[in-house]
Amino acid sequence: MSPTRTRPPRTHLSAGWSSITLTSPDHPWATLAEPTAVPGVVIAPAVAISRPRWSNRWQLIHVRSSGPFGIRGPLAYMREAATYLAQAGGIDFQQLATTLHDLPVFHEHVRTLRNEIEVARGLGRPLWWARPSWAQHAPQWRAVPPPESNQDGDFEFGTWREVVRFADSVLAEMPWSADPNAVLRRDAEPSWLLTCAAPLCGQDEGEQVPPAVLEMENDSGCWPWLSLDRGELAGVARKQHWRQVGRHWLCPACAADHPVDHG
Ligand SMILES: [Zn+2]
Repeated sequence: MSPTRTRPPRTHLSAGWSSITLTSPDHPWATLAEPTAVPGVVIAPAVAISRPRWSNRWQLIHVRSSGPFGIRGPLAYMREAATYLAQAGGIDFQQLATTLHDLPVFHEHVRTLRNEIEVARGLGRPLWWARPSWAQHAPQWRAVPPPESNQDGDFEFGTWREVVRFADSVLAEMPWSADPNAVLRRDAEPSWLLTCAAPLCGQDEGEQVPPAVLEMENDSGCWPWLSLDRGELAGVARKQHWRQVGRHWLCPACAADHPVDHG
């Protein structure tokens, strides 16, 4: 297969790509590379040296030498590995490759990342957990229809602002709203909220947005799914294809980005 016919797949990150020519014993291979937060390090497709072709794997590349660090795997892991190097600091990756290879701390980072990636991939989890998945939310407000209203369940609100919006826009259309037995009250206990614990959740498209939370969808849009019952949230999360790994959870997108490697 001709190298020129091989293209990396489209990814969410379209801005800021650079081109790089990877070196191999046989011939150079020009490809696109994704920048990282570490100057001098990019993420490029991992290709077989003898027969360049798309492998569905990625690798960290030292820009100055166009050479690989020997760290490869699914794209999400390479982004996390680069983030790890950026946060660890202490190494100037814009130096010559020979200088880098003289640094014990460089080899330590490479060894650590290789080991951690192997362990994490076996479990289908990110390289580290960025936050607890279970977060507490201030007690919810509840509009409780009278029993004879035939209304199916309470209306729950995370904030007073939502209560007001509901009252202004929806409540007047509900016959039971004027019933003296209709109650508006606030829970005594905080609610729970399920959050994705992957470090780079929400950082696609080159912008920083909060990590995914378990949501419910109704006529007025998507809302964080709040509940007093963690078991209820866990059941909903499984139905929505979230993945549980011990005490942590991955949203569907992050679960897909971290497939369990059965070896
Ligand atoms: Zn996520």
